[in-house]
Amino acid sequence: MSETLEFQAETRQLLQLMVHSIYSNKDIFLRELISNASDALDKLRLESLVNKELDVDTSDLHIQLEIDKDQRTLTVRDNGVGMSHDDVVSLIGTIAKSGTAELLKQLRESAEQTQRAELIGQFGVGFYSTFMVADRVTLVTRRAGESQGTRWESAGEGTYEIETLDEAPQGTAVTLHLKPEDSEDQLFDYTAEWKVREIVKKYSDFIAWPIRLVSGETKDEGDQKEGEQAAPAPLNSMKALWARPRSEVAQEEYNEFYKHVSHDWTDPLETIHMKGEGTFEYEALLFIPARAPFDLFMRDGHRGVQLYVKRVFIMDDCEALTPRYLRFVKGVVDAHDLSLNISREILQQDRQIQVVQRRLVKKVLSTLKDLPAERYATFWNEFGRALKEGLLDDADNRETLLDLLRLPSTHSPDEPTSLRDYVERMKEGQTDIYFMTGESRATVEHSPHLEAFLAKGYEVLILTDPVDEVWVEQVSQYDGKNLQSVAKGQVDLGAEDVPEERTEEFAPLLSWLTTALEADVKEVRLSTRLTTSAACIVGDAHDITPTLEKMYRAMGQ
Ligand code: ADP
Ligand code: MG
Repeated sequence: MSETLEFQAETRQLLQLMVHSIYSNKDIFLRELISNASDALDKLRLESLVNKELDVDTSDLHIQLEIDKDQRTLTVRDNGVGMSHDDVVSLIGTIAKSGTAELLKQLRESAEQTQRAELIGQFGVGFYSTFMVADRVTLVTRRAGESQGTRWESAGEGTYEIETLDEAPQGTAVTLHLKPEDSEDQLFDYTAEWKVREIVKKYSDFIAWPIRLVSGETKDEGDQKEGEQAAPAPLNSMKALWARPRSEVAQEEYNEFYKHVSHDWTDPLETIHMKGEGTFEYEALLFIPARAPFDLFMRDGHRGVQLYVKRVFIMDDCEALTPRYLRFVKGVVDAHDLSLNISREILQQDRQIQVVQRRLVKKVLSTLKDLPAERYATFWNEFGRALKEGLLDDADNRETLLDLLRLPSTHSPDEPTSLRDYVERMKEGQTDIYFMTGESRATVEHSPHLEAFLAKGYEVLILTDPVDEVWVEQVSQYDGKNLQSVAKGQVDLGAEDVPEERTEEFAPLLSWLTTALEADVKEVRLSTRLTTSAACIVGDAHDITPTLEKMYRAMGQ
């Protein structure tokens, strides 16, 4: 019984764009399929380790690429965990990624083809990338432990067909019916052995499972009798990248590995490859992405580090390995002395893992500190806001985090400053670091609070991120200097006291104002801090800042 179902609306739109945008590098569809197959094999191995009841043969887990020149098809087959009927509907029929709506909005707004392709690449559409090269895709799958299989087929245009099969090999086979228009072009001939070999070598060499090639003439589709002849030599070297000496790994290889673990399509900004020796041995291969994912600030956004134990994949999104504020760091940690059955809860309590986490944090922060200025600026633009959260959560590394801050200030209209540079520019007699929080740079710049400081030539940091409101409450000093809000009472600018005769002169006005504003202000006083404005409102030293006040009010407090 076959059913025709519609793709979820977002999926339909993305597919449309995928089919019609020219992504400059179509070859990567194969990387995506191999990456999925590899994940499925990882999952099966883990499941068979944990669930002894599961009756599956895991003696020859592998990925097989099957070329059929006559039919012009390419099949990527794995004997991994497979998918149930419902899995197929939910995983292949919908895009569950957070940020899909945001991406589609941006896509609609960008008219340029290349810009669109960029965005799609940034989003990484995984399985759907097959529709760049195929006008029809068939997927046959059976979940390990289940008896029935599922066949899914689509031309990528709005609907797909799905049916239950009484028999199907365990695992997943994805067959691409390649577009006829590519048959003339050698560059896009995905039925050519050399082409397939080349792509695998380039993008998937490190995949831990053997990738084998079977050329079409010798076999019938779906009738592969395994074990009858010796398996062909794998196309990939299968070397776990993190276990190889750094000097032997090319940056290109790191980049492709990054794309596999992160599901990102862009090269990483920085690679960190380290080893921990001693009582608790581990290898870590971490990456700092060049671009923030759409879900960086969403509550259910993922952590990016996978945990392996002696080359065996254990879990994605391992929270125990990175603090929340470093959730953008991607990669792998392979710990040697953990049980394969370890749970997330136990991991969180594990003292050794806590030590590993502390070392990883130190290493990531020191790497960031050493990035050349221009690359660091890119990083800061993408992830700076996340890093600020560390000022609240990570007291141990507060000094380093403060050094990593880049904050807008009155010194320059567009270049943010480090606190170090701010301190170096401090004027004779200036004892504090001044800042003002506000909704935007413009509001802060037009604030009367700023006048006296600018008049004295003092630089003021302009803090407009909502999270700034919070960290400035927690961090009182940098380099022995107080962080002082210009919107608060006791700012000592070394100004002279208001002369006696002026006090007398203005006494009637002040008392009138005090009565008139009784409900709103505590006190009205003369001040020498303003230069062009007639009046301004200041808070007590211990009051909350105006923006925070607004934030609380908005939250109904
Ligand atoms: P991603 O890999 O980023 O999750 P994809 O579009 O590549 O996104 O795949 C969507 C989901 O479909 C995967 O997360 C996985 O659950 C499932 N899937 C895809 N290919 C396979 C496969 N070969 N075996 C089992 N599950 C698969
Ligand atoms: Mg994928």
